[in-house]
Amino acid sequence: MNTIKTETIHPIKIPTPFLVGTVNAYLIKGEQNILVDTGPATVEAEEALRSGLAEAELKIHDIDQLILTHHHPDHVGLAYLFSGSAVISGHKKLRPWLSKDEAHYKNVYQFFEAFYQENGMEETFIQQIKKQHQSYMTYVKPAELHKEVSEEEGTIQGLTGWKVLETPGHAQTHISLIRKEDGVLIAGDHIISHISSNAILEAPYSPVEKRPETLLQYRDSLKKCLQASIVYSGHGKRISAPKELIIKRLESQLSKAEMFYEKIGTESFTVMDLCRKVYPEIFMKQPDLTFSETQGHLDLLQQEERVKKHWKDGKLYYSQHQPVKQ
Ligand SMILES: [Zn+2]
Repeated sequence: MNTIKTETIHPIKIPTPFLVGTVNAYLIKGEQNILVDTGPATVEAEEALRSGLAEAELKIHDIDQLILTHHHPDHVGLAYLFSGSAVISGHKKLRPWLSKDEAHYKNVYQFFEAFYQENGMEETFIQQIKKQHQSYMTYVKPAELHKEVSEEEGTIQGLTGWKVLETPGHAQTHISLIRKEDGVLIAGDHIISHISSNAILEAPYSPVEKRPETLLQYRDSLKKCLQASIVYSGHGKRISAPKELIIKRLESQLSKAEMFYEKIGTESFTVMDLCRKVYPEIFMKQPDLTFSETQGHLDLLQQEERVKKHWKDGKLYYSQHQPVKQ
């Protein structure tokens, strides 16, 4: 007779110096000791991680595999602690972020310099965002990705019965893990109960790729998770009715797109001008996130052919699309 061995999932709460507050790492004890995410590279986070593992009578070197949901510092900063003793797994696009590959960072900053300029952002904000990003990434200490996991491959060694879902949107590197038998989902920042994840803009990962339309990707990735039964998130509480939450998020994106559409009215806007019109105060503190939010909803409106773009004096403008009357 087959016995079903179900792993136990222990959340470990880890402090971060970021606005988002604590991050949840997850210890999965089953055929292997698997840790999902690590917390940022700070003394406080390392202490919390070590004591969380100690509660399960484990030490860093007892972890067989570290799976990283995405490249943000609050999730991968301490991965280097596991370099010598565990297999570090994640999406292939995570590699240059984790190793802190200089050429990759250079490409990213070059892309955004040009992209922000053509979308109307002033140089001072471009430099401010770059500095913020550079200081954010100091919370990652370099480590090597040992194993690439993908949805195509599906299974995860050492975690029988689970599969990888690629869930890009919040990050291009984002993966989630789902237990096939009962739909338990470990979702990183893909689905969070108390905040709607930002579909953060990213540079393309190769010269042949276009800019990823992150909000459109994010919506597709949300729809992929409708069958989840319980969600263990990277921040906040466990979600016991994920389907309702996903539907709510999808609907609120549509109504937010409508709000942007109304704001455009009969005028033409660069992304930057529209962003400042909609978020006059938050923009000053979080220029990158508010810009992402604006661009994402414009992408959504454009997909629905509600807005159109045109170039003027080297800048890109959006206006409402007037359907031609028959
Ligand atoms: Zn994140």
